[in-house]
Parts: sequence; C-alpha cells; structure tokens
Amino acid sequence: MIIQLSNNIKEQEQNVLLQKLSDLNIKSNLISTQFKNYIVGIPKVDFDIRSIGNLAGIEDIHRVSDDYKLVSKKWKVNNTVIDLGDNVTIGGDELAIMAGPCSIEGEEQIENTVQHLVKNNIKIMRGGVYKPRSSPYAFRGMGMDGLKLFYKHCSENGIKVITEVMQVSQVEEMLDYVDIFQVGARNSQNFNLLDILGQVDKPVMIKRGMSGTINELLASAEYVFSNGNEKIILCERGIRTYENAYRNTLDLNAIPILKEKSHLPVIVDPSHGIGLRQHVATMALAGVMCGADGIIIETHENPEKAFSDGQQTLYYRQAEKLYQKMRLTKELVEKF
Ligand code: PEP
Ligand code: MN
Repeated sequence: MIIQLSNNIKEQEQNVLLQKLSDLNIKSNLISTQFKNYIVGIPKVDFDIRSIGNLAGIEDIHRVSDDYKLVSKKWKVNNTVIDLGDNVTIGGDELAIMAGPCSIEGEEQIENTVQHLVKNNIKIMRGGVYKPRSSPYAFRGMGMDGLKLFYKHCSENGIKVITEVMQVSQVEEMLDYVDIFQVGARNSQNFNLLDILGQVDKPVMIKRGMSGTINELLASAEYVFSNGNEKIILCERGIRTYENAYRNTLDLNAIPILKEKSHLPVIVDPSHGIGLRQHVATMALAGVMCGADGIIIETHENPEKAFSDGQQTLYYRQAEKLYQKMRLTKELVEKF
C-alpha cells in the first residue's frame, strides 16, 4: 500500500495516521523524496483501505500487491520523465541516446568523442573512469582525473555525463562531475551503494545484474526510491545464459515487461548485450522497436585501439548511421 501525503500535512495529522496504521498492524515506512512524502505500508493481513482513506493529510492511497512498491506502475499512471536540464530528458517523447567509449582514456579521446556527439546532436556521453574488469591486470580507468576532464569538456558543449560509480566511497567525490550515476551489472545488488545513491540529487541508472531477475532489478530500484531519490532509470544489458556464441543474451523480453511493471524509463545496452560490433546496431534497433526509452552504446574513433571492449565498440561512421536509424525507428514506433 502506498499513501501519498499532502504537501501541507500537519505533524499531528501524520501522527494520527501512523497510529491508525499501527493499530491495524500495518508496518509503516515514512519516505521523503525530492518531490513528495509517502508512507509505504506493509499490511500483515488483507484490509480495507477505505478504513483510512478519509483521514486528514492523505492525498491519495493505492493498493500495490507487488514486492516492490514505489517503482511499481500500479500506483503511478504517468511514466517518470527524468529532466537533466537544458531540454535533455529521459522517458519523454524523444529517444534518449547515450554514446561514448567504454573507458575514458585521455583528453584527446574525450574531445574527439564530444565533437562526434555534437555533430550528431547526441546529448549524453557515456564513459567509465572506474572500470569493473574481470582481470585485475586490465585497464581499470582514469579515476577522478579522467572524470574531471570528461565533465569539463561535456559541460562546455551542453552534453550530459553518465559514468559508473563502483563503491560508496566514490559517490561524494564524483557528485559534482556527473549528471547520471551508473550502477554496473556487477553492482546491481550492492544495497549499500543503492542506499547512498538514494540520498543524492542526481539520476541513477541501474543495470540489470548478469543473473538478475526482473523483480530483483525492480527491487534494486526500490532501494534508491525508498531512500529518497525518484530519478531512476532501468537498464537491460543482457544476462548470462548457457549460450556462448555472444557475450551476453540481450533479453528483449525485459523491455515490455519492465514498461508494464514500472513507471521508470528503460534503456537498452546492446553493446554489452551482444558484445559483437557487427550486431550491435541490429540489437539497438530491436530495443527501440520493443519500446525502450533510450539506447546506450559504445563508440570510439578507433575501436581497435580502445583500452576496453573494443570488440563491441562502433566506429563513428557506424554509430552515425545507427543514430539516424534509431530516430526513424522511434518515429515509426510512436506512429502506430
Ligand atoms: C559498462 O557500461 O562499461 C559496463 C561495465 O557495463 P556492465 O556493468 O553492464 O557490464
Ligand atoms: Mn564496456
């Protein structure tokens, strides 16, 4: 059960409500976000919401039977649109395209990427400065030095920055240099990290864990929301199955299912999803056809020389073609 409290609820009215819920043996969680105050009630037994519906200070009340509550579509009719400022939104009418290298490698690479993005009217640049790598000997990112350069060049050119945060201790130092925090697949259920990201005023994109279920992804999003941050984006990036002909199995089923279950925007990552450059565009277009709100792809001026994930990284000329096709596909999806 979700109770939306009115903005001008009096303390005494809130106390009456909490007492009433306690009398009904309902566990109450009081949640304050950037936008609103809620009570998430977990009733032990079924009860009639009409018995509290007319108490003072309640704006709206909804029964939500899912395990996750605040990220469920059951109580929120309008989908969440994330406003990054400067007319950049995620979850609105326009397809959100995020593009850039797997890893930030240096200033020249950032400048080249920014130029490529500006030319193609892409408003969000991706790039890791803290990289989760399977081998400790692989390139693990430029850290804060790289992030500061990344942010500088992007903000000077009206481009928003999305980058991965790997641990709790990095959140504060990164805060002023990111527009969207990315939680990687390997951290999808790092609940301490999710708790902290729920307390910052920056959007958070949560990638689905390699063996994460849809419900687990939504429960991770619930951690962020219930800590106070409503600006959440879900990302399907492929799951690990028995199939080894490609890097991961991009689960296109997840897109309509997530859109059905949640009001949060859904982004698809075909680069990690299939992991093969020659098929990234096909899967990106499939993602748009399936109703994704946006696509995140890896692109580099010279993928053969990329410090990480070169095999799934598009050349600029391939990426350019794809942007056009994705935009046309989105138009088609909207039309019918
Ligand atoms: C990435 O986006 O570069 C990345 C490491 O992704 P994932 O967490 O999905 O593997
Ligand atoms: Mn990568």
